[in-house]
Amino acid sequence: MNPERIIAKLLALGADLSTRSAVRAALSLISEDEEELTDQIYVELKNKAYKDDFAKVPPEKRAVFIPQCLRDIKSCPAKFGKYGFECVKCGLCPIGEIIEHGEKLGYRQFYIVPGGSLVKKILKEKVPKGEIKAAIGIACWSELAEAAEKLSIVKIPLQAVPLLRAGCINTLVNLDRAKEVMEIGTERFYFQMSSKAPETHGNPSVS
Ligand code: SF4
Repeated sequence: MNPERIIAKLLALGADLSTRSAVRAALSLISEDEEELTDQIYVELKNKAYKDDFAKVPPEKRAVFIPQCLRDIKSCPAKFGKYGFECVKCGLCPIGEIIEHGEKLGYRQFYIVPGGSLVKKILKEKVPKGEIKAAIGIACWSELAEAAEKLSIVKIPLQAVPLLRAGCINTLVNLDRAKEVMEIGTERFYFQMSSKAPETHGNPSVS
């Protein structure tokens, strides 16, 4: 049974799906208690629940967390900096395209991270300053479920993009899905920027 149908079935049964452990317990009632399915359903529910809140956050306040395993490990020329790998968009892996698409939409924060500890460090530094108000995470289901749990505690709306092929190297992402997620709600900010532009140019005090 696909996750959407399972979610519909559980909701019809009145199951509590508010936490990861509640989802696990509900799935065991219908004999569908695989760990990955639990994570998948929990993440998809969180994606839906946080979509509107995520959409209200301007792109420049959204952090995009990208796993380093998407890189071309053998030939990637990116250097490792304070906030993870610094992509030079060499074209050898999909990360450059994800960043380029995001930049066109107004995103400014991309973090190519080797693991959860750096994600935690970045959030700890940037959330209290208001520099990060929403996040996109690309990762395997279990990491996404863990992130969704933690970020919901600190009220950071997350939109998760699962890897199509997980692992330590040569992972795979659905590029279209990643781009679609980045586009959520960006139209309104584009219109805001466009509507401000003529004012500035038309102001005689602005040279
Ligand atoms: S596109 Fe970026 S992350 Fe990917 S291999 Fe090239 S420099 Fe590395």
